Amino acid sequence: MGLQENFKEITEKIREAELAAGREPGSVRLIAVSKTKPVEMLEEAWSIGQRVFGENHVQEIVEKKTAHPEYEFHMIGHLQRNKVKSVIGRVSLIHSVDSVRLAEEISKESVKAGTVTDILLEVNAGGEESKYGFTPEETKEKALEIAMLPGVHIKGLMTVAPNLPDPEDVRPVFRKIAQIAVDIRKENNDNIDMYELSMGMTHDFRVAIEEGATMVRIGTALFGARAYPKE
Ligand SMILES: *Cc1c(COP(=O)(O)O)cnc(C)c1O
Repeated sequence: MGLQENFKEITEKIREAELAAGREPGSVRLIAVSKTKPVEMLEEAWSIGQRVFGENHVQEIVEKKTAHPEYEFHMIGHLQRNKVKSVIGRVSLIHSVDSVRLAEEISKESVKAGTVTDILLEVNAGGEESKYGFTPEETKEKALEIAMLPGVHIKGLMTVAPNLPDPEDVRPVFRKIAQIAVDIRKENNDNIDMYELSMGMTHDFRVAIEEGATMVRIGTALFGARAYPKE
């Protein structure tokens, strides 16, 4: 199938999941994960109305944003502190803030650039050693610490769920993330919104939407398999 058909199919599936879950139509935003894909594919996606792209390599963001300054990019992958400077001003949201030190660096560089960067806190809700992110237990405390930084604004949480054969088995993980967000919202902190939940990928986005995702990050189902494994 071509890109156009893929986008149509996934958009329909997102609408169906919203309806089935009693969610408002259009309440879930599709982040098209275009990592490793050539800029021509992003151009095709743009031509059929896709506006926001997820990337996980700083160099790719710099190249693609330079080619198309009008496209919106989100950083969704692990970000090294020494590369923070290159993404500030190039991405509208960083999904993958997984340490206080990283948040401090993003804040510092944002202040220098005269901006405030929107961020999500990554939570390792599945408890997998191979995954980045805060533990569910520490997330609230870290959120309150990060909220004191002048150059970042916390918009919500993000998670990469364990890749289990049956997506139904990751439902508790998504539910836990949504619960942590509710709990943090009760703090009524001025620098924390906690209304965005970035969860769900090709394999499990339907379940994620049922559990409250506001952003799904989908790559393979839109652009096809990637040439090298995801990181
Ligand atoms: C690659 C990636 C995705 C997209 O995964 P697919 O299974 O191709 O939809 C989503 N989120 C993150 C953090 C990724 O690195």
